[in-house]
Parts: sequence; structure tokens; C-alpha cells
Amino acid sequence: MSSWNVDAGVVRLKPGKDKAIRRRHPWIFSGAIAGVDNDPKSGDVVVVKDAFGAVLGRGCFSPSSQIRVRMLTFDAAVVDDALIFARVKHAVRLRQALVLDEQTTSARLIFAESDGLPGVIVDLYGDTAVMQCQSAGAERMRDVVVAGLLEALKLGRVYERSDADIRTLEGLLPRKGLLRGAPLSGLVSMKEHGLRFDVDVDAGHKTGFYLDQRDSRQQLREVARGRKVLNCFCYTGGFSVAALAGGATSVVSVDSSQPALELGQQNALHNGFADDKHEWLRGDCFEVLKGLKEDGERFDVVVLDPPKFAAKAEHRDRAARAYKDLMIRGLSLLNEGGLLFTFSCSGAVERAFFRLIAAQAAFEAQRPCQVVAELGHAKCHPVSTSFPEGEYLKGLLLAV
Ligand code: SAH
Repeated sequence: MSSWNVDAGVVRLKPGKDKAIRRRHPWIFSGAIAGVDNDPKSGDVVVVKDAFGAVLGRGCFSPSSQIRVRMLTFDAAVVDDALIFARVKHAVRLRQALVLDEQTTSARLIFAESDGLPGVIVDLYGDTAVMQCQSAGAERMRDVVVAGLLEALKLGRVYERSDADIRTLEGLLPRKGLLRGAPLSGLVSMKEHGLRFDVDVDAGHKTGFYLDQRDSRQQLREVARGRKVLNCFCYTGGFSVAALAGGATSVVSVDSSQPALELGQQNALHNGFADDKHEWLRGDCFEVLKGLKEDGERFDVVVLDPPKFAAKAEHRDRAARAYKDLMIRGLSLLNEGGLLFTFSCSGAVERAFFRLIAAQAAFEAQRPCQVVAELGHAKCHPVSTSFPEGEYLKGLLLAV
């Protein structure tokens, strides 16, 4: 079934560059490589050897990426369809054990490197699986992964959303469309903790929904009763609907995307929340926050879940200023005793740094805060202990 070439080449590392691999870190950067034998092609499986010729394992070769090899094994095991099948099944079983049930029919099924399947993302929405191949190796694994998914789960369809910008770093062109099963007809419905969300898997962000925020949405739901909520960067209303379900008196949701707002409103209505409890504003959150302040508005809970401000490490400081600025604006809108849910999904802004940014924002806004909870990925995004880069989402629940 495989379309890949197994052991198509050998990658020899420079002295000392085997250390990270021996600790099971899955990435080999181009600078760690002394030489490549046998001319492997994009996505081929190569054998990786240390400077003395000892086999360290096998990985997928990516000639145009700085991450030249993504490891699949860390021993002498060969790479074949059975290995990929086993990993797919293991990943699916973990989500079935931790997340999926009658009330929650959506989850990230495969979280790339963290599930031993580098570059492979698969999200489940009801009976629709949406796959994204983010690396040359993932591209080659695609058909085997899909076959594994169909064995592990009862699916209506598998749809591909391999149109993320990150693919250009791997020399891959964008691609999307139906891979298996029934054609899409409009939106796909799923449940999260009993709430219904419609998802645009064809044109929505990422694979259509931000599944990584499920646990934090639930935390908001638990504290929303009787409170007035402002949800900034609301996308299709995940936090808004959770707040309404938790008994919020009113929710104002802000985003720059009109289609996202329309779907958000639809999601709120589908869950039975009366029109007069939720308001949807199109605009730039930085400006809207400023305007609300000038109008003397106040809220009991503010959610700040902006897009990635630092795509690269060199944007870290600029991103930090933007996060701080947002938090200052959010904090200054809160009533005494109010709560701020604040997030960063920039991998380059690590957790300790994010806490420092929050501390600085609290200081500059003159709103002393307490950290009520550290927030992060939902359980369907388990991060491998040997791959800290897998943790991109971090957040804080602050009380003023
Ligand atoms: N909290 C959401 C996910 C947010 S994703 C959820 O739980 O589903 C980030 C969102 O920010 C996107 O919907 C994007 O359209 C929006 N966005 C990006 N820049 C913006 C800006 N400057 N002002 C308002 N919205 C913005």
C-alpha cells in the first residue's frame, strides 16, 4: 500500500549531533548532517547513523526543509505500513479513552510528532475526519494513515485540508478535497460537552475549529454564571457558546472575520440561546477594546485568544508587546473581582515568558492580579515528553 521508498538513503550525522536523537527528539536540522548517501527523494525513509556509523533509527527525508529529517523510529525497527497502522490506532484509542463520548464527538485524533506521526494532523468532527499533511513524510504516509483511520473508527468521510502555509517550507503545494467517503454538503455538525457546533471544514481556519481550546472553554463555562462576558478573537463562537451555556447574562463577541461571526451567531442560536443575550461585533480587537473603554463599558469576564503573533523566534519581542498591550486593554475593562482568560498560541513565546508578560501587563494596567489557573491544550493534544516544541498553546486565568 505504501507509496514511499523505505531505506532509500542514509543520513550521517556530525560528531555529537546524535545526542538529541538518542533522547528521542524527532527533528534533525540540516546543520547537524555530515552527509547524505544514495540521493533520497522528498518523503523517503532514510536510515540515520551517528558519526561512527551506528544506526540511530529511521525518519522521513525532506530535502527543502531546514528540518531535514523527522524521525519515525529510534531503534533498529523497520518502517512499514504496520508501524503506521499501530500508531494511528494507538492515537485514536487514547482519544476514545480521554475525550470522545456521546456529549463530545470532536477531538484531535493525531497530533503529529507527539503521536509518533511527524507532520500528520487529523481532527474528528462527528463522523468526518479532516487530515492535514504538514511535511514531506506526512505526504507519503497519507494513504496509510487514512486506511488506519478507517479501520480504527466508523467514519462517514475523510477530508483533506493540506493548505497550511507551513507546507511551503517543505516544498509542497497546497491541496484540499475529499479523500474517502461521502462528498461534503455544507457544514459538518459536532458536539463539545453537549453543545452543538457547526464546522466549515472546507474553508474554516486550520481544519475548521480550534479543538485545542476545549478544556479552557469548559473552564469558562464553569465560572460564567451571572456574569457579563467579552470574548475577543471569538472565531465561530466557541468561548461565547460555552459562556452562554454556563449562564452568562450577556456575551459580546468580537472578530475580524465576517464568515466566522455569522457561524458563531448560528452556533449560539442552534444551542437555544436567545438573540438578546449575544452580540457579535466585526472589528479589530485592539480598536474595539479601546472603544469599549472610552464608552465606559465594563465586563466581569474577558477572553483574549488572539492568532499567533510570533510565527518565528525573531518575532518574539514584538509579539510580547502585542500580548501585553492586549492584556492591559482587557484588564482595564474588568470589574473588581473580574476574570481574564488570556492565551498565546505562539510556540516562540514559552509559558514562563507568557507569565512575565501577564505580570508586566497587570503592573502597567495597575490591576493587581492573581493566577487562578494555568491553561493549555485540551486533552486530545497530548504533548510528547521528548518533544517540548509540541506545546504551543498556553494561557492563564487571572483574577483582578
Ligand atoms: N477563540 C477561538 C479561536 C480564535 S482564533 C475559538 O475558541 O474557536 C483567532 C481569531 O482571531 C480568528 O477568528 C481571526 O479571524 C481573528 N483575528 C485575527 N486578528 C484579529 C484582529 N486584529 N481583530 C479581531 N480578530 C482577529
